[in-house]
Amino acid sequence: MKSVAIFCAASENIAPGYFEVAAEVGNLLGRLGATLVYGGARFGLMEATAKAAKISGARIVGVVPRILEERDRVSSLLDEKVPCNNLSDRKDIMLTRSDVIVALPGGVGTLDEIFHVAAAATIGYHSKRVVLYNANGFWNGLMSVLGEMSDEGFVRAGLHNIIIVVNSIEELETIIKEV
Ligand code: AMP
Repeated sequence: MKSVAIFCAASENIAPGYFEVAAEVGNLLGRLGATLVYGGARFGLMEATAKAAKISGARIVGVVPRILEERDRVSSLLDEKVPCNNLSDRKDIMLTRSDVIVALPGGVGTLDEIFHVAAAATIGYHSKRVVLYNANGFWNGLMSVLGEMSDEGFVRAGLHNIIIVVNSIEELETIIKEV
């Protein structure tokens, strides 16, 4: 069974279309018989993804920092709860427990997770890829910044093999199946 880590928004204060995007990705995981590995919080795109994934038959693994547990922020959808101490060890656990990583629209937490994985891959700690699901062109701005940094020589040319952009659920399905 394939494990797919999903990084995505904790915010609820975003357009309804993004919740539909999260549900679409959750459904895909169920359809592929995959395991979802994610932050385990009971709100935002995290909960929307997990809910759709669970309903469609995916196994749900939440990697949960103790502080979230103390604040009663943990989703009730988890089949397995992996406790962790803080956001740093959580990123490593999510990376270790997954075959491929997908980032849906998110904020600074999602950016932190994307670059944690990508930076480790650029210096050879692992060979997993981060797939940016470009719903509504959400990641165009980030890719443009990375392109400029690459033109100036600050970003290694190989980054485009590590951070990959997909524009449709079909493209995402193909990449997950390839892993
Ligand atoms: P953000 O993109 O800033 O909304 O942060 C969401 C991402 O960071 C998720 O992929 C989570 O893994 C992690 N994260 C940030 N805040 C939380 C939270 N309150 N509960 C669980 N995970 C969180």
